[in-house]
Amino acid sequence: METIVEYTVRKKPLNAYPKRVISPFHHQSCCSARMVQIGTVGKDQRGFSFYYRRCQVCGFTLRHFLPIQPPEESPMVQRLRRFPRAVEQVA
Ligand SMILES: [Zn+2]
Repeated sequence: METIVEYTVRKKPLNAYPKRVISPFHHQSCCSARMVQIGTVGKDQRGFSFYYRRCQVCGFTLRHFLPIQPPEESPMVQRLRRFPRAVEQVA
């Protein structure tokens, strides 16, 4: 999936998800508290899952990538099964 976000300062921020989103170039002080998910989870060209997050104040938008799931029975999964508290910490 190609990005739908256009970063520019020449146009007003716009949320026309899922077709396109116009975002300012830079993160500002408003963004950390006002970012919300827009749309659903998608995958990029590499197969990584992400969704878009957009600031409700200035329109700054980015991709928020989800943690990669370890394959079943990998050493990490086996370790987490033995120590259930560790599962809570990584969830
Ligand atoms: Zn902002």
